[in-house]
Amino acid sequence: MNVRVRYAPSPTGLQHIGGVRTALFNYFFAKSQGGRFILRIEDTDQTRFSPESLQDIYDTFDWLGIREDEGPRNGGDFGPYIQSERLEKYRIAAEHLVKEGQAYHCFCSPERLETVRQEQVKAKSSNQGYDRACRNLSPDEIEKKHAQGMSSVIRLKVPLEGETSFSDVVLGTVVRKNSDVNPDPVILKSDGYPTYHLANVIDDHEMAITHIMRAQEWIPSGPLHVILYKAFGWTPPIYAHLPMVMGSDGQKLSKRHGSTSLVDFRKQGYLPEAIINYISLLGWSFDSEREFFSRQELETLFYIEGLQKSPAVFDYKKLRWFNGHYIRNLTDSMLSVAILPSLVDSGLVSSTPSKSEVEIIEQSLPLARERLVLLNEAPEVIGFLFKEELDYETSALVPKGLNEQQTREVLGKIANEIDNLLNGSPEDAEAWFHETAEKEGRKLGQLMMPARIAITGTKASPPLIPSIRLLGREKSVTRLEQAQAKLAPIGD
Ligand code: GLU
Repeated sequence: MNVRVRYAPSPTGLQHIGGVRTALFNYFFAKSQGGRFILRIEDTDQTRFSPESLQDIYDTFDWLGIREDEGPRNGGDFGPYIQSERLEKYRIAAEHLVKEGQAYHCFCSPERLETVRQEQVKAKSSNQGYDRACRNLSPDEIEKKHAQGMSSVIRLKVPLEGETSFSDVVLGTVVRKNSDVNPDPVILKSDGYPTYHLANVIDDHEMAITHIMRAQEWIPSGPLHVILYKAFGWTPPIYAHLPMVMGSDGQKLSKRHGSTSLVDFRKQGYLPEAIINYISLLGWSFDSEREFFSRQELETLFYIEGLQKSPAVFDYKKLRWFNGHYIRNLTDSMLSVAILPSLVDSGLVSSTPSKSEVEIIEQSLPLARERLVLLNEAPEVIGFLFKEELDYETSALVPKGLNEQQTREVLGKIANEIDNLLNGSPEDAEAWFHETAEKEGRKLGQLMMPARIAITGTKASPPLIPSIRLLGREKSVTRLEQAQAKLAPIGD
């Protein structure tokens, strides 16, 4: 089989985790099967269309490093790939169904539909939805209404009895009674625009889609789509509905749980490698053990039987962990490119870094690699290396249990020791801190903390000794002296 799959987003909002997972799984499946991955833009709801959302789809693909084989950007044999450019096809198809007796014109006004709805609610009727009032209009009546200039929509004739089923790779056979399917939904609106159902089915058929992999929230549309395929005399593609993505509380993942849009993750400094790897595990597994996958590996290893039925839980902590892992795996040049934007944004480095800034970046890489979990933590972790002046409160220097004079004394001792701290091994330097603390009856933190603030300006900074070494003798001594000068003099 020549696998052809599609990602069919509606450009009505930013790409979020769920959509990105659908896109990735379709992409990986196509690649692993030597098939084609199609991007189709479902913009039939023109009131909700936004050009930014469309651009966001392209930006997301580019950032993830995935490329559609066919779509609005690069064309293909089955275009156009934007539904608003295919309106004529939908109109002709809907008229064809009317002619075949599979669909009908409906003239009910919105007001009438609203009255019907309210009555059904009041009567607590089990038959909710359209009451099929126009289903049996005679050809004469229809002609008369059209002649009077009444506008109409086209509705699908859903069979009144029997059941409809489809088989799903993930869920097995899904069966619905036809009486439980949306009663005669609109397929073509009065403005000539198709509804999602009609456009989606026609396009999947015309674009020769072999597999529909999409979120489970679309399951209720499944039987309706199968009825449409049958009405046209077409065979439906193979379905694979992906499990829901939940937050840690078991509710559907939403903004309440944290960021969900890809743009947010990008801004926070997640790497595409980490996002791809983590998302690929949301409802899919290769085997029960392996959890690291590169995009290239997934392009060959992905298999559709690995999809799972049970809901996936989105674990922000685990994603951070993956990100730290992928940051540690970056080469020096990749890491410096990756951290540069946050350093520039925070004003630490000029947008075209000077030679000395480049040098500092290079020196900082081992520390950045070891400490960063998100790229945008770079200013906090290595920012002290770029600053001429540190900005911190004097009180931040003074640890619990010491006063200003004692703190000043501690800093003086460390300044005096600087040559040994720089020249000996890191273990020796560490040992000196331990011994000195013990000798003076102080806690280790009472020595380390003031020094860390003096050297880096922040408590959340990398380990002290590597920081001193990176900063170098001269600057370290200056900073220790500047810190002492802020504190009350000894003997006062
Ligand atoms: N346009 C629908 C969406 O926004 C597509 C659903 C489907 O894949 O059939 O998700």
